[in-house]
Amino acid sequence: MARPEGLRHAGVIMAKEPRAASRSPQTLTPDICVIGAGSGGLSVAAAAAAFGVPVVLVEKGKMGGDCLNYGCVPSKALLAAAKHAQAVRAGAPFGVAAQRPAVDFVKVHGHVHGVIAAIAPNDSKERFTGLGVQVIEGAARFKDKETVAVGDLEIKARRFVIATGSAPAVPPIPGLDQVAYLTNETVFDLTVCPEHLVVIGAGPVGLEMAQAFRRLGASVTVIEAATPLVNDDPECAAILLDQLAREGIAIRGGTSVLRVEGGAKPRVVVAAAEKEETIEASHLLVATGRRANLDGLDLAAARIKTGPRGILVNKRLRTSNRRVYAVGDVAGGLQFTHVANYHAGLVIRNVLFRLRARADETIIPRVTYTDPELAHVGLTESKAGRRIRVLRWPYHENDRAQAERETRGHIKVVTSERGRVLGATIVGARAGELIVPWTLAVTQGLNVRAFAEMVVPYPTFAEIGKRAAVSFFAGSLTKPFVQRIITALRRFG
Ligand SMILES: Cc1cc2nc3c(=O)[nH]c(=O)nc-3n(C[C@H](O)[C@H](O)[C@H](O)COP(=O)(O)OP(=O)(O)OC[C@H]3O[C@@H](n4cnc5c(N)ncnc54)[C@H](O)[C@@H]3O)c2cc1C
Repeated sequence: MARPEGLRHAGVIMAKEPRAASRSPQTLTPDICVIGAGSGGLSVAAAAAAFGVPVVLVEKGKMGGDCLNYGCVPSKALLAAAKHAQAVRAGAPFGVAAQRPAVDFVKVHGHVHGVIAAIAPNDSKERFTGLGVQVIEGAARFKDKETVAVGDLEIKARRFVIATGSAPAVPPIPGLDQVAYLTNETVFDLTVCPEHLVVIGAGPVGLEMAQAFRRLGASVTVIEAATPLVNDDPECAAILLDQLAREGIAIRGGTSVLRVEGGAKPRVVVAAAEKEETIEASHLLVATGRRANLDGLDLAAARIKTGPRGILVNKRLRTSNRRVYAVGDVAGGLQFTHVANYHAGLVIRNVLFRLRARADETIIPRVTYTDPELAHVGLTESKAGRRIRVLRWPYHENDRAQAERETRGHIKVVTSERGRVLGATIVGARAGELIVPWTLAVTQGLNVRAFAEMVVPYPTFAEIGKRAAVSFFAGSLTKPFVQRIITALRRFG
């Protein structure tokens, strides 16, 4: 593939503001133009460059997008600090004196931003330029079906990939716009631990933040209009919610926020038993979901259709404009970094190799990184229909869990009547790691027998999965022919 003139020397181009109309704009003609340098866009750009394809990457904010700067990385770093604080409190059963942790929140802030800084070089302009990607700083917008403009620069690419992510969806609560509230874009800038953090939204993000701040010293109230963790298996979610309540987090499910009053210190007015109740907060965090980043893209100019959740795409992630694909949060499906990466791989296969690779949301795992963690893949019991088996194994029956006093939780596996793994949910320590083999099983259509026959190192938490799998066959021990074999084996020693 010939390398267009403008791309011979990969490097960073700063898009300038539009100049006088008479001046003809500079035009780049790469094979692929990626809009957005977050998880999805970076993956597309890196893969395209690795295959020697001329690629331009446009980013209007920070390289690394939400995951690195305002999402996965800072939230997991904050949770890690919180876990250390909790370990100080919880040492007594191990013979280690329990203490009240002395939390220096300026240092916690430093830790969180230190972790971002440690990872940032992987996503940096310099690294991507070195990989052969032409990085352009500025906001991209479509001019027509085959042209994107960034300032006075024009990009005419063979294919475009929109990877502009999502932003916090702030609900239209009366008075909210009159108070200082936090979102995931500002909460990691705090250098003081809130006295009383009120979180609106009991999804994964809201609950992760609630537990982190609680453990670091805040009083925390979570308000949720619907059911907390509504998308998760209720039996497993209940174990997590119970733990959060034990740690002192007030979770108010089925509670609507009527309005927010006040200034720097917001008062949240909620509906409670046919009357109003006011909750005084020192800080308010809004974690009520996400909305796709479409503003300013002028998608209509490129005849790209959108729906309520984002850009409309087919299974191959192609938009209504056949030159244009959309990946990650903006594509309106599951919103995770690993989904954005998965999408990127599919687009590369479709665009570069003309393979008809299709997205399949049923194989996507998800994890809430609270303590205990809550991890899931495939079908839940309620979605799997009636001809199923449900296998469970509790953490308290696991020797490693006993040794580490991590006995809360269980695994729940859903199989077909013949043992095909349809889904699994794990609530407990390291659930995010333990869900991986079950994700493989769902992806590859494995039978639970594969887990029963696997030798698992002792003592590991992973034995929980094997024990659940073995329980599938427990019923068969009562069958007459199995009993005859057991009797014969006993007779011959
Ligand atoms: C608090 C929090 C915690 C999370 N934790 C996890 C987790 O633990 N695990 C997980 O898998 N997921 C997690 N997520 C979700 C994850 O962050 C997102 O799913 C992921 O970042 C989506 O990647 P993306 O590439 O679609 O978008 P983004 O990473 O948001 O990147 C989009 C980029 O596009 C740029 N952009 C937007 N418009 C334009 C334009 N017009 N021109 C140029 N550039 C533009 C933006 O500036 C941004 O850099 C979390 C999210 C939040 C909010």
